[in-house]
Amino acid sequence: MPELPEVETVRCFLESHVVGKKIQKILTVNEKLRYKIPPNLNLSLQNLIIAKILRRGKYLILLFKDSKFSLLIHLGMTGYFRLNDKLNKKKHDHIIFFLEKKILIFNDIRKFGFIKIFCNDEVFCSSHLKNIGVEPLSEEFNLDYFNFFKKRTVDLKGLLMNQSFVAGLGNIYCSEILYDARVNPLRKTYSLKKFERLNIIKSTKKILNKSISCGGTTIKNFIVSEEKIGYFKNKLKVYSRDKKNCLRCLKGVFIKKVKQNGRSTFFCENCQK
Ligand SMILES: [Zn+2]
Repeated sequence: MPELPEVETVRCFLESHVVGKKIQKILTVNEKLRYKIPPNLNLSLQNLIIAKILRRGKYLILLFKDSKFSLLIHLGMTGYFRLNDKLNKKKHDHIIFFLEKKILIFNDIRKFGFIKIFCNDEVFCSSHLKNIGVEPLSEEFNLDYFNFFKKRTVDLKGLLMNQSFVAGLGNIYCSEILYDARVNPLRKTYSLKKFERLNIIKSTKKILNKSISCGGTTIKNFIVSEEKIGYFKNKLKVYSRDKKNCLRCLKGVFIKKVKQNGRSTFFCENCQK
């Protein structure tokens, strides 16, 4: 499932390839995504020029030149964009944006993704965005902010996964961040010491920045073009490495996999205290 680094990689790709381009037509092949595709999509956006692409958590926001409309996009579990020179349709292509000399296609096998249209600034106070916590790569994600949550009884991975605490983290990066910070994901938030909260903040920024620079992790569902992306997968240190040697403790110490709130968590009991 795309998390912050994957969505940011898509944002950067779209920013460098489609900003400034005019939408000539939008074709809805299948309107049944997580939410029904609005019937006015083509009528509202035809002839508009894509002006800006923002990201908030795992959401993308498209803004248009001299227009009151904006688009909110979520990739769901398997959503991705493909940019072609010619129309080259594939199974699960749902929305096709005909741009000047380019065709941008939204494909989503599992259909948990969505595209919604908003007027003026409504997108930012929509139910999707209004309760999202701080961006982990912003300066707002600091010790003072973390301290507001320090008495929580939730386990640590649950806190990091909670989008109203910090935006955009999911299962893969929560395991990687806590491994880097040497903190056990099963710990209760209230048991953390100040230096551990600081280490978690530092590791969050470090792991996300590293992953963005490698183009994210989930290469399989995440092909935007021929660009080299998804290479962080080779750099994962703990996620999906259960029963393998811990890369820090080495021989004889194995990565453990447990279920937390129905999702797999990976960690080393020896070096994550
Ligand atoms: Zn270890």
